[in-house]
Amino acid sequence: MTASHELRSIPYAKPSITELEVEYVTDAARHGWGRFHRDYIDRFEKDFSTRVGAKFAVATSSCTGALHLGLAALGIGPGDEVIVADTNWVATVAPVVHLGATPVFVDIERNSWCIDPALVEASITAKTKAIVAVHLYGNLCDMAALLKIGSRYGIPVIEDAAEAIGSTYEGRCAGSLGRFGVYSFHGTKTLSTGEGGMFVTSDQSLFESVLTLSNHGRNASESRQFWPSTVGYKFKMSNIQAALGCAQLERLDLLVDRKRQILEEYRFEFSRQNLEVNAFNYERNGCSIGAWMTTVVLTEPDPDSNILSGVFGSLRKRGVDARPFFAPLTSTPPFSNGEPRRLRSRWSYRIPPVALNLPSAHDITSDEIVRVVTAVRVGMS
Ligand SMILES: *Cc1c(COP(=O)(O)O)cnc(C)c1O
Repeated sequence: MTASHELRSIPYAKPSITELEVEYVTDAARHGWGRFHRDYIDRFEKDFSTRVGAKFAVATSSCTGALHLGLAALGIGPGDEVIVADTNWVATVAPVVHLGATPVFVDIERNSWCIDPALVEASITAKTKAIVAVHLYGNLCDMAALLKIGSRYGIPVIEDAAEAIGSTYEGRCAGSLGRFGVYSFHGTKTLSTGEGGMFVTSDQSLFESVLTLSNHGRNASESRQFWPSTVGYKFKMSNIQAALGCAQLERLDLLVDRKRQILEEYRFEFSRQNLEVNAFNYERNGCSIGAWMTTVVLTEPDPDSNILSGVFGSLRKRGVDARPFFAPLTSTPPFSNGEPRRLRSRWSYRIPPVALNLPSAHDITSDEIVRVVTAVRVGMS
């Protein structure tokens, strides 16, 4: 129990759950069995694909699983290369490795923190089988440039929109522009089912391959029971999770509006406290960001900065749970190539030592935002 005079500790992320979610989940737990066992799953897939503007959707147990299915359906395997940004959560790269392919890491753009299209083009070889566009922290990749490169070389562009639900690119939803898109409904994401993900595409044959792979290799048109046509995977979402997803999807506009509002409140509070910072989440021309997680670059990017030790110390002391900006994957044990010095001029090495994610749960209060910014200011001085 927390004494009433104590300040609530501020979580960095948390789902927004109302009576609607409780009602749907309760209904699924009570009635969603037997011939009703897929009702919420079917509805979630249908409503989600409509919402993001893709023809087909397959609900999965995670975004990582959705990505694994999509890459497998594209036939990616040993000897193939997949181009990804160095700045990434490892989940984006793990399926590439599990399928036996080789991730090729390129730097990010300074402003968007997303993959740099010029470096993508320079990294293409005869072995390149896919380009993964991760919309980092809800910011958008330069999709026009990436799609142009993809079509010039005949290489599919895949969108990891795990952090970008509610982000739009020239009016189209993040995740609906590439050959396929994947989303995460992990407990930290804007729309949550606890754990869960979604695969979307407008390519019917890719959809059918993913559907078969996601269901232990059983083809939807197969009338025989327990009859796999290939060895697949088991990455399905449950009806109870889908019930939660249906309720969250009905509230998606509110959930995204609140995320954008939190980013604006942080901007306002940093300026009210006269704390000048280098950058916040970037909004490309013609784009609207879902602002999943307010992220701030405190100073000029610098691979040798030590500013975060004071900032995180100050945040911890004031009960604020913030998160570091993703370290470059080429600096982590599975992917480090033993040449970090050569890479230090990259933005993916220069930004993380001066950047962090600020608490962005929907129910954060204005007073709490003041407390977070105060903690950052004291920690920087
Ligand atoms: C959260 C996240 C994932 C993984 O999502 P899961 O649903 O946990 O598998 C993948 N990519 C990015 C960019 C993410 O933020």
